[in-house]
Amino acid sequence: MPSLKLPAEGGCRCGRVRLKISSKPLLTMACHCTGCQTMSASAYSLSAAIPSDGFEITQGEPVIGGLHGESKHYFCGYCMTWMFTRPEGLDWFVNLRPTMLDEPGWFTPFIETWTSEKLPWAETPAVHSYEALPAFEDYEGLLAEFAQL
Ligand SMILES: [Zn+2]
Ligand SMILES: [Zn+2]
Repeated sequence: MPSLKLPAEGGCRCGRVRLKISSKPLLTMACHCTGCQTMSASAYSLSAAIPSDGFEITQGEPVIGGLHGESKHYFCGYCMTWMFTRPEGLDWFVNLRPTMLDEPGWFTPFIETWTSEKLPWAETPAVHSYEALPAFEDYEGLLAEFAQL
């Protein structure tokens, strides 16, 4: 499998919004929740949690979409690609959809969430599966385990 080379650039489907990451992900995830199924138009969403200071929009202006709630979902305003999410109250990282990157082949989900809502056939290679979300106190261990990979 290819490895992540930094900095790594990417963008939306039409290329009007471009971004760059210069930090390794803290964690990689797949989410099977029905909200992600709808927004991704697919079986599950993919996220790479990138430290905020290693994440940069280099071209264009993403717009907020989804539920317009406390967690901010960012889209290209032209092609409407769901690009990344800034989770509520967690401003030190950005959940980037890794398929925005020009070379996403390094990505595998380390954890998967909301398997209680998954499509019956949907499987991922995630090491840890959760019916909902990990307990808040589990994240420190998960980050440490992911960092060892
Ligand atoms: Zn676009
Ligand atoms: Zn979800």
